[in-house]
Amino acid sequence: MADIFEKCVNWKDADLAKLAGHYAYYRVIQETDGTEVVIDGKRVIMACSNNYLGLANDPRVKEAAAEASRRWGASTCGSRVLNGTTELHDELDHRLAKYLGREAAVTYSTGFGTNVGVLSSLILRKDTIFADRMVHASLVEGIQAALGDCKRFRHNNMDDLERLLASADPDSGKLIVVDGMYSMEGDLANLPKIVELKKKYNARLFVDDAHGFGVLGEGGRGTGEHFGLHDEVDLQMLTFSKSLASIGGCIAGPKEVINWLKHKSRPLVFSASMTPGAAAAALKSLEIIEQEPERRARLWDISERLHRELRGMGFDTAPSVTPVLPIVIGDQTLCLSFWRRLTDAGMFASPVVRPAVEKELVRTVFTATHTDEQVDRSLDIFQRCGREMGVIPYKKPSTRV
Ligand code: PMP
Repeated sequence: MADIFEKCVNWKDADLAKLAGHYAYYRVIQETDGTEVVIDGKRVIMACSNNYLGLANDPRVKEAAAEASRRWGASTCGSRVLNGTTELHDELDHRLAKYLGREAAVTYSTGFGTNVGVLSSLILRKDTIFADRMVHASLVEGIQAALGDCKRFRHNNMDDLERLLASADPDSGKLIVVDGMYSMEGDLANLPKIVELKKKYNARLFVDDAHGFGVLGEGGRGTGEHFGLHDEVDLQMLTFSKSLASIGGCIAGPKEVINWLKHKSRPLVFSASMTPGAAAAALKSLEIIEQEPERRARLWDISERLHRELRGMGFDTAPSVTPVLPIVIGDQTLCLSFWRRLTDAGMFASPVVRPAVEKELVRTVFTATHTDEQVDRSLDIFQRCGREMGVIPYKKPSTRV
């Protein structure tokens, strides 16, 4: 008789990766200030956090979280629908809706739960989702939980999307689902064309703006604002674990849809709400994002410099056009060895392998609070390790005459 645990006992991939020195996961951080961390007793540059604006370590955000815990307690011990909506949660819903210029918004306790909760409760039997093949795993989970059909189109391939829309039942409800800014390769959804197709085929548009919010657009409102198409996004989803420096998620859109979700979306109804500390941190970060656009400008300055200099050294950072800076390697062993070399040289980055990406890459992200000295040091580490590992061509230092 088969034992349900047998596959786990036989699964040795992680153990083998540890033996090879290629295990990149669950590294324990002993100290952090957001730009540098201590791991294994050694201080290294943090180059792959989603703390885009550096607010996770901002004293004002930390104090807001601490003060809320003192006043409201460590947990709400209940779901939003019952006893888990404090004034902080209610204020966050309203402030986010206002900032995003949407009729209504509701906050969940994670971004993951938001995506699962929205798709699983909104997409009924007669409805169809049209999702980019590279959307986040939480959307894939939501698609699997939804009752309706799902068609996946090739990443950012608008002909493929149109082909699927054109062949769908004209009477079925249609939702196009994309990430605004793709988290691994740093490219953007082709919103201008997607909006054109959405109108032509009478569909609605859902954008996961986990990475776009705070980073893209004049006011940091995300991918729609970046393209001048903010109002064409019917449902905008955010996570708080990136620019908003907290944990939680939000969906914003028409008030009737938000009201439906508030009563039918299982992660809202059956899972405890964000801690008061997390809600207060997100509120404080939102206030700072509104008041300090210079943080976003600094993030872009750093990222443009890194893109320029890394490409100049011979690294492949395509297809990114954003502060998510992938160093594309395209070979699993080389990718893991290069990542290991970066770690030893003083950098905390993340290797990402297929099928999560089309070509193996080392994902890096720098934040608005990294100093010029830290960026200089990082460029030096990239160049040294890249040459040593043959990722970029070795150039002889010019000899003096
Ligand atoms: N969507 C995207 C695009 C993400 O990158 C993530 C998290 N990395 C999520 C959703 C889930 O968000 P959270 O971490 O808040 O659960």
